[in-house]
Amino acid sequence: MSFTLAIVGRPNVGKSTLFNRLVGKKLALVDDQPGVTRDLREGEAKLGDLRFTVVDSAGLEDATDDSLQGRMRRLTERAVEMADICLFMIDARVGVTPTDEMFAEILRKKSAHVILAANKGEGAAADAGVIEAYALGLGEPIRLSAEHGEGLNDLYSQIMPLA
Ligand code: GDP
Ligand code: MG
Repeated sequence: MSFTLAIVGRPNVGKSTLFNRLVGKKLALVDDQPGVTRDLREGEAKLGDLRFTVVDSAGLEDATDDSLQGRMRRLTERAVEMADICLFMIDARVGVTPTDEMFAEILRKKSAHVILAANKGEGAAADAGVIEAYALGLGEPIRLSAEHGEGLNDLYSQIMPLA
């Protein structure tokens, strides 16, 4: 069965890095500076024996502070509508922010399956953020390092039963 997984979360948490890793090509732009990627990007993902469509919800990085909250809300709602599974990503080194809590509130209300990923999870600097992520009420967070390719087995284990 084919399914669609959308990666959502605030700018700079590592969404495009994970998208690129799953797709295996540089389809989504990655940059230290917010403002590079735009729009929703789709790619064909491969994770173990799973094949699925992955959507990178960019298109927020060029928003001003004034428009960011509303745009994130609309984009997240769109992503939830088109996706069978939402992968909600936070930055484990930063921990849970008020913006993350806003995302979590939207996602808890929607019926799509939600997977919670605490990214940038390599190293001890991420320990506290991973624990904080439990408080979002979205189940057990996957400790992920999109950049280093760590935690992909746990990601697989959470996607597998939903596929
Ligand atoms: P996006 O805005 O959510 O799409 O985030 P990007 O994928 O563009 O990544 C933002 C920054 O975080 C880039 O500098 C990435 O190299 C970095 N990054 C992404 N994943 C990781 C990770 O697992 N660990 C660390 N330390 N940095 C990461
Ligand atoms: Mg991006």
